[in-house]
Amino acid sequence: MTVAEHGPQRTCIACRQMKNKKQLVRYVVAPDRSVLVDYRQRLPGRGTYTCMSKQCLLDAVKRNSFQRNFKGQCRSVDATALTQQLIAAVDQKITSLIGMSRKSRQLIAGSNAVIETLKKGSSLALIIIATDISDTIGKKIAALALREDIYTVCLYDKQKIGQLLGKEERSVIAVQNGLLADSLLNELHMYRQLVREN
Ligand SMILES: [Zn+2]
Repeated sequence: MTVAEHGPQRTCIACRQMKNKKQLVRYVVAPDRSVLVDYRQRLPGRGTYTCMSKQCLLDAVKRNSFQRNFKGQCRSVDATALTQQLIAAVDQKITSLIGMSRKSRQLIAGSNAVIETLKKGSSLALIIIATDISDTIGKKIAALALREDIYTVCLYDKQKIGQLLGKEERSVIAVQNGLLADSLLNELHMYRQLVREN
């Protein structure tokens, strides 16, 4: 049995599937009666859950499931605003995991360093390429990553990636295999799915 199968189970208010609570998104009602995404699942009060899927979030809004589950205690919910909240929460988690990877020295930054590591054969779990990377370098890294079968995603611009590392602009970062990389992969999949469906 995996860790994910242990622990409290909750039901998605949209598709009614029962899952480990850690695999779901938690929502609570704020003091101003708006519905808040409680991504870290730490806010007090009654929580309600959906799958980590934009479809379930939208279905829940459409069918008034939030109102029903919060027993009329929340204001009406705007699907776009709630989706934006969820994207922002995932984004925050991604940036915090990148910071943790850097601190634990599992992160490689800069195109030269990443290309060198890729050429040595790979201990890398994932590569994040800046959206504004130069075409030539971007293609070179993507081709090497494909050869080594490493998950690659285009996310953030060079300036934002640099900021995450407390440095000047960086056009590419990579994270080595490990638990942090696994968590980061989960969040990146989630982010891509949320943004793509937007
Ligand atoms: Zn669901």
